[in-house]
Amino acid sequence: MFFFVGGTQMIPEQKYSREAQYCDRCHHTKHWILEKQRHWIALFFIPVIPYSTKYIAYCPICRNTYIITKEMYDKG
Ligand SMILES: [Zn+2]
Repeated sequence: MFFFVGGTQMIPEQKYSREAQYCDRCHHTKHWILEKQRHWIALFFIPVIPYSTKYIAYCPICRNTYIITKEMYDKG
């Protein structure tokens, strides 16, 4: 028998955008939340190998979400 106690884990890092952004869904201008989502392959619930990173930005009010680039995330 082979047991593979593994899976994937996503570890988010969040920060606020430096400048307020207008949201065309809820019409508020707020500092959006920028999120870096690191996806890891986990063994026994311990993240061991990073395999992808995604960057998103979302409105803190209605959670309208956009995919952004690493450069946009780093710039804030
Ligand atoms: Zn919104």
